[in-house]
Amino acid sequence: MKFALAEDERVEATPGAVGLCPGCGAQLIARCGSKKVWHWAHKGQRHCDDWWEPETDWHRSWKNCFPTDLQEIPSRDEAGELHIADIKVPNGLVVEVQHSAIKSEEVRKRTIFHAPMIWVVDGLRRKTDKIQFEKALGSEFWHRSDEPVVSRLSPYQVRLIEEWCDLQVIVAFDFGGEYVWLMSARDWACGVGFWYKKKKLVANVRESTDIPYIFFEEKNRMGKVIKRTHTIPNSLPKPGG
Ligand SMILES: [Zn+2]
Repeated sequence: MKFALAEDERVEATPGAVGLCPGCGAQLIARCGSKKVWHWAHKGQRHCDDWWEPETDWHRSWKNCFPTDLQEIPSRDEAGELHIADIKVPNGLVVEVQHSAIKSEEVRKRTIFHAPMIWVVDGLRRKTDKIQFEKALGSEFWHRSDEPVVSRLSPYQVRLIEEWCDLQVIVAFDFGGEYVWLMSARDWACGVGFWYKKKKLVANVRESTDIPYIFFEEKNRMGKVIKRTHTIPNSLPKPGG
């Protein structure tokens, strides 16, 4: 973890520092080696949040887009189960930042626990993901000439889509640039999305403003739109709502 509590202040790990876990209150050890990012660890190997994963620089760079008091926020469900959200803003929206491989069953469980939420997925963990993604985008399987350009990617062509398309929440794929590919709608088994500036996404989350929507429009014979639907609810609740 990035933060421990020391005299009720959230402090980062530095050599020799001591602090308590904001989740369970146990004493933590500051791990400040050269291989991993400096972090706090529970004594022994057991973390009080069994969903917790070792952090990378990539995790930290996403967390650091947000003020420190919005990072690593513990909460419990009705059964008393504890989990620490990577980022949680005051209106309740959670952002989970995922680098490691994860089973879809596990993703579903976490999505239900944290909802409303969005996922940010590391598109650079596997060497082939970015190549696959760009190839599929380039093949123009389907795209709408909206602004921004909306594309539809098949789970049969893109493994990331296959793994993440089943959720009813927004998923941002991060391939390391200034933009993320924001999957914010579904069309059958396909993921529908567009490139979106990371900075804008962060601002949307921090300020509880809407991410651009993808609508599916049904038109009558006269070409008039009679129905607009979207397949993924915009997961950004309004302040106080
Ligand atoms: Zn703990």
